[in-house]
Amino acid sequence: MASPHPETLALHAGWRRDAATHAVAVPIYQTTSYQFDSTENAANLFALKELGNIYTRIMNPTADVLEQRLAAMEGGVAALALASGQAASAFSVQNLARVGDNFVASTDLYGGTWNLFANTLRDQGIEARFVDPSDPEAFARATDDRTRAYYAETLPNPKLRPFPIAEVAAIGRARGIPLIMDNTAAPLIVRPFDHGAAVVMYSLTKYLGGHGNSIGGIIIDGGNFDWEAHPSRQPLLNTPDPSYQGAIWSQAVKPLGPIAYIIRARVVLLRDLGAAISPFNAFLILQGVETVALRMKAHCENALAVAKFLQSRREVTRVIHPSTLTGRDAEWTAKYLPRGQGGLLGFELAGGAAAGRRFIDSLKLLYHVANIGDARSLAIHPASTTHSQLTEAEQAATGVSPGYVRLSIGIEHIDDILADLAQALDAAGN
Ligand code: PLP
Repeated sequence: MASPHPETLALHAGWRRDAATHAVAVPIYQTTSYQFDSTENAANLFALKELGNIYTRIMNPTADVLEQRLAAMEGGVAALALASGQAASAFSVQNLARVGDNFVASTDLYGGTWNLFANTLRDQGIEARFVDPSDPEAFARATDDRTRAYYAETLPNPKLRPFPIAEVAAIGRARGIPLIMDNTAAPLIVRPFDHGAAVVMYSLTKYLGGHGNSIGGIIIDGGNFDWEAHPSRQPLLNTPDPSYQGAIWSQAVKPLGPIAYIIRARVVLLRDLGAAISPFNAFLILQGVETVALRMKAHCENALAVAKFLQSRREVTRVIHPSTLTGRDAEWTAKYLPRGQGGLLGFELAGGAAAGRRFIDSLKLLYHVANIGDARSLAIHPASTTHSQLTEAEQAATGVSPGYVRLSIGIEHIDDILADLAQALDAAGN
C-alpha cells in the first residue's frame, strides 16, 4: 500500500487496538509509573539502550499515540507532546540555545510567543533577534556565530501573511541553522517539512484539539537535519552532556534513528522542567485530531466567505485574509496555501477602537474569547487583550492597530455566521 495521506494517518497512525482488550479507542493510561521487567530492563531504559516507559513526566502511552500520529501526519520522525503550546515554543529554542546564544525570529508572532522570546528567554541569556519576514535575507543578515535557530509561524495572525518557509529554510541550511515552524494555524493545509523546515511545533489547544477543551503543545522532529555536520554551530547536540553521563546527542541515539533533537528535548528539558501533558488531555486532543481534516476544510471555506462578506460592508475599511494579499505575499499565498487559506481573518472598522468594542459586545453567536481554532466561531479585540502586554510600538510591529478585530471562523452554517456578523456591524455603526 502506498504511504497513507495525512487525513488517513489522523485516524490510524500510532494505534490499531489494545493488545489486552482489543479496544479500538486509545485508552487513557492514567498512571504515574510503569513496573520494570527486571533490574536489567530498568537499567537499559534509563541508559536509553531500550526506549520504554519509566515515569509519566517523561513519557506516557496515551501521549505516545498522539506523538506518533502527529509525527506521521507531518512527515516527521518523532514528536514530544507537552503541557501547552508555550512550553513547546520554549523547549524548541532552549533545546538548541543556551546563555550567550541567539536565534532569529520573525516579527509576526503570537503575542505570548513574542513575550517569551523578548523577555523571558532574554532573561535566561538567550537573545531573540526579530526580523521582518517579508525579506527572507533579513534572517541571513541577523545571523552570527552564536545563532542557533530560525523561528517563525506559518500563517501568523494578525497579519495573516504566509511565511516564506522554503526561502528561509534554505538560508539556514547553508549555515547549519534549522528552521523551527509554529504551524498552529495551518494543520493539514501546510506541511513545513515539505518546504525544508527542520522542526515543527503546534499549540494543540487550537485546530488539532478543535473543541476548546484542552491545553497542549507538541514539537515534531523532521529527522531531516544533519546536526553532526555542524558541530560548532550546534554545540548542545554535539558536545558531551554532563546531565546525562556525557552523552553526545547527535551520536548517542543514532541506532534509534535521526531523533537526536527530540530525544534531548524529552530526556533533558522535559525531565528537568517538567511541562508534561496529562494523559487525559492527550486523549481529548486525539479525539480532535481524528476529525481535523474535515474541520479544516470547513474553517477555510467559511472564513473565505466571511472575508468576501466583510469586503462588501461599508463600515469595514480593511479585510485581512490571505485572499486579499498582493505582490509577493500573494505569490507566497499561492505557493504555500493551495490547500486552503485557514480559518482566521481580521478587519478594521472605520469607527476605530470604540466601534471595535461595540462590535464585539453586540455579537450573539460568536464567542468573545482569547482563543483561536475552536470548532465554534470566535472574536477578539487584540489591542486590549492578547497583545495588551506589548508596547504600542511592539503591537504595531506585530500588525495590531487599535481598531483591529480578529475572527476565528468556526464550522457553523455559514448563513448563521454571516447573520451574526451583519447584526453586530449594524449595531457597531461607524
Ligand atoms: N502559537 C500560536 C500561533 C498560538 O496562537 C498560541 C496560543 O494562542 C500558542 C502558540 C501558545 O499555545 P498555548 O496557548 O497552547 O500555550
